[in-house]
Amino acid sequence: MNYCKRCLYPANHPLQITFDEQGVCSGCRVHEEKDILDWCERENKLRGILNSFRSTSGKIFDCVIPVSGARDSYYIVHMVKNAFNMNPLLVSYNKHYNTKRGIRNLAYLRTLFDCDIIMKTVSPSVVKKVTRATVRAMGSIYWHCIAGSTALPVQVATKFKIPLVIWGVHQGCDQVGMFSHLDEVEMTRKYRKEHDLMGFEAKDLLESCSELTERDIEPYRYPHDKDIEAVGVRGLYLSNYIRWDSKSQHEHMMKLYKYESADQQRTFDFYNDVDCFHYSGLHDYIKYLKYGYGKVTDHACREIRLKRLSREQGIGLVRKFVDKKPIDTPLFLEWIDTEENELFGFIDRFRDEQIWQRKENGSWELKDSILNHISDTGVEAVRLPVNETCEFFISPLRDETVSEDNYVLVARGYVGV
Ligand SMILES: [Zn+2]
Repeated sequence: MNYCKRCLYPANHPLQITFDEQGVCSGCRVHEEKDILDWCERENKLRGILNSFRSTSGKIFDCVIPVSGARDSYYIVHMVKNAFNMNPLLVSYNKHYNTKRGIRNLAYLRTLFDCDIIMKTVSPSVVKKVTRATVRAMGSIYWHCIAGSTALPVQVATKFKIPLVIWGVHQGCDQVGMFSHLDEVEMTRKYRKEHDLMGFEAKDLLESCSELTERDIEPYRYPHDKDIEAVGVRGLYLSNYIRWDSKSQHEHMMKLYKYESADQQRTFDFYNDVDCFHYSGLHDYIKYLKYGYGKVTDHACREIRLKRLSREQGIGLVRKFVDKKPIDTPLFLEWIDTEENELFGFIDRFRDEQIWQRKENGSWELKDSILNHISDTGVEAVRLPVNETCEFFISPLRDETVSEDNYVLVARGYVGV
């Protein structure tokens, strides 16, 4: 397997990656723009765009912002509402795998930013049915979360005739350099289907799983083009206009609003995915079983590029976490009423054979790993300096008496601050 000489990404990255003559990946090259572009000018450009969406009558919302109890939500609302003085309508898809910490972060977000919010909780039986179908069809326990949280904001925007949806970071740009920041790429149905949803739109799922009905997949349908065009809905990514640095943004939010971070099972980034029992657990372990690497590699690549980790430190973190078994598997199996063998049997069908091979006794073996590429020729020539330490902090709990236990759907709408 070919690995980037600067970061840790392999050639089989599912978002597709290319390497230049120095062996540096497209993600690292586009990331160099973060230290070259004039971000004041970019932010002014964003201000101009946002001004053109400001409601003159004040009767409707200026934009829709998708939020959750983690993952840049505070930062995006902070920037849009407090820095740019827009009037956003918040939208949240309930992913059903909520931790109490995530529920609390979302409750404080609702209260502190004092915005209207629309929350959608799809019926538990439908979510389970859809998840059983996506495990079989694509080896994913998380499709409904991604499909629901990317469809709902656009559904709300078309329904309430609000022509702007504001997203945070564009993963294709940030991880693999699919686009330059200057392309100012916006959310499209095509990108969502091919990359976010692993090639499966809701209607494709309907075709491959006879037990699902039209009604079951309705929450996951992206609105029709003619409805989107009638309102003129656009989906902007803030990361094209603001120099994106998830770690420092989260730390800023921890200081300003006491955003709660949390220890994570399979990575050193304690900030991004604290709202979900499975994202950094079973879901990420499945990613490893498919592609031979997990979120820890994504996080290490990001921090290498932001000059907070050396390539060797990043590899050390990958070694520590990449094959660690998740502890949340029994919780998921109980929720969906499936046996462990059955679940992992489905996942095995989606192992990428560029990186995994099956041995005669039926077990799987990695053909290669970044651990074998520590001192590849050419690494020194493209090395970035390390300018900062890379420490992630666990913030104090807002409520010391709570403990994480089984699933909780949604808490009350407000908190005392
Ligand atoms: Zn790279």
